[in-house]
Amino acid sequence: MKVLINQQKHYFNSNTTKPLAFRIEQLKKLKTVLKIHEQELTAAIFNDFQKGSFNTFLTEFAGLYADLDKAIKKLAKWAKIKRVGTNMLNFPASSYIMPEPLGVCLIIGSWNYPVNLTMAPAIAAIAAGNTVVIKPSELTTHTSAALSNVIKSNFDSSFLAVVEGGVEETTELLEQPFDKIFFTGSIPVGRIVYKAAAKNLIPVTLELGGKSPLIVAPDANLKICVKRLVWGKFVNAGQTCIAPDYVLVHKSIEKKFLETLKTEIEQGQFSLANQNYAQIISEKHLDRLVSLIDPAKVFVGGDYDRSKRLLAPTVLVNVSPEDKVMEDEIFGPILPVLTYEDIDYAISFIKARPKPLGLYLFSESSTLRKKILNEVSFGGGMVNDVLMHFVNDELPFGGVGNSGMGNYHGEAGFKSFSHYKSVIKKPTWFELPLKYYPFAKWKSAMVKWVVGS
Ligand code: NAD
Repeated sequence: MKVLINQQKHYFNSNTTKPLAFRIEQLKKLKTVLKIHEQELTAAIFNDFQKGSFNTFLTEFAGLYADLDKAIKKLAKWAKIKRVGTNMLNFPASSYIMPEPLGVCLIIGSWNYPVNLTMAPAIAAIAAGNTVVIKPSELTTHTSAALSNVIKSNFDSSFLAVVEGGVEETTELLEQPFDKIFFTGSIPVGRIVYKAAAKNLIPVTLELGGKSPLIVAPDANLKICVKRLVWGKFVNAGQTCIAPDYVLVHKSIEKKFLETLKTEIEQGQFSLANQNYAQIISEKHLDRLVSLIDPAKVFVGGDYDRSKRLLAPTVLVNVSPEDKVMEDEIFGPILPVLTYEDIDYAISFIKARPKPLGLYLFSESSTLRKKILNEVSFGGGMVNDVLMHFVNDELPFGGVGNSGMGNYHGEAGFKSFSHYKSVIKKPTWFELPLKYYPFAKWKSAMVKWVVGS
């Protein structure tokens, strides 16, 4: 590993990655390579957890191609040196801000969207002019191997490399003097990464998880709400960091909401019988999820097939805040439904817990929308839909508090992998003797006048 990092340091220090033409060429190449190997990677993802090709294209590749096109088109603008004003104390001079790449970057990915969540940050890092080491999750074994082969056979490892492995290899990587670490994964491992990075004062972006609430107000369009909720919750079998974790529905519409929800789930897009319904990633994960289901509270679903690692879309009712299912992020196809009567109760319920990665509100009321957006802190979210904010690359994507720090997508990704160097350029033909000895009265009067005090 040390050798690889040294090679990348050497390559970065050769300045090869800095010209925009090089970055654009690599981004174009990456797009071609991903397109050529899309089927192979899709098959690997299917082998890992039975995710169907339509959803794989939609949730893994579509966003990457859009990211690549955007970066190629906008790079010159993002990388432009920005002239800013100069204060009087520095007169005469010109000041500017110059984005520069950070250097050798480590990207650690999670398994739930194994291609997107490693390649999207890699695109941002390449656009910003860095070299990159990607560490995919060991849980998606086939995808990790396929990604490694694809990158190895198309890119010089001094520029872009994949290191496969689990805890041991990641621990070793975390000891290396990277210039940036971008981590996507769980909160406990996020803490480990943050601590390791602190040792070498490495800047980090942490894309973590948490319990994202979905609020259904009395005036919500229930049909649309439920349609969008069912897709967003059960696609990838609920193994999505921004999936709605639990529902807070107004008591007055609880019954109607639940009936509509049941009808929508019974349409069968996500069911044990559907060949494209994603598997739970491992038996251990399935066991954890099953242990969260209180059979007395099952309204829909609850059944599972251990041999196939499948768990049916499951809705729990009469859930109390003390139930086990309300402790940690569920990260599976279980949806607890809680009720509220007063919106201030719902808000204080959310605020009493760690700041979530996502928040969703279904309501037609602009007063309610403004109130929630103003009063509740969360990474990002939507009004009247779920998940889709992830694919708008005009929006920085990331968490706040326990759900993460930093963000990416579009220009935010470029910024995440750049340092903004501030420079003042001064001419030598003029020298104001203001700051030099002897300190005459007129000098202090002039300084006071210049700074406005
Ligand atoms: P994880 O934290 O278990 O693993 C993530 C990565 O860390 C993997 O590459 C793994 O090899 C490595 N890792 C695991 N244990 C480690 C250790 N002790 N030391 C060093 N490295 C270690 O997370 P996961 O199970 O792959 O993913 C699920 C979690 O990720 C959920 O909490 C989910 O919300 C979150 N997530 C967040 C986002 C986001 O964009 N915010 C996206 C996807 C997933």
